[in-house]
Amino acid sequence: MEFFDFDAPDEAQIRLEKNKARDLRKTRWWQQKTASGICHYCGRKTPFKEITMDHVVPLSRGGKSTRNNLVPACKTCNSRKKSMLPLEWDEYLEKISKD
Ligand SMILES: [Zn+2]
Repeated sequence: MEFFDFDAPDEAQIRLEKNKARDLRKTRWWQQKTASGICHYCGRKTPFKEITMDHVVPLSRGGKSTRNNLVPACKTCNSRKKSMLPLEWDEYLEKISKD
């Protein structure tokens, strides 16, 4: 990996990726992905209007709006992910996968 890959993305890049994500929300691919209403993280069935689009690798950490980085997440998981440190989030995932 090149050194510059570790630079934090600037605001313009993040805005671009957010726009891409918004466009992807309108696609058939996303419709199919959310059709089951299953949260990618906790596996709970979630009403369609409460399904959010989540970046597995957050944009702030250099994640991109690509199909393999976008997953349906319930509001609970999404807001937890936002408020937790990456390490805490990993622990949370480990915990729910054991249930
Ligand atoms: Zn969830």
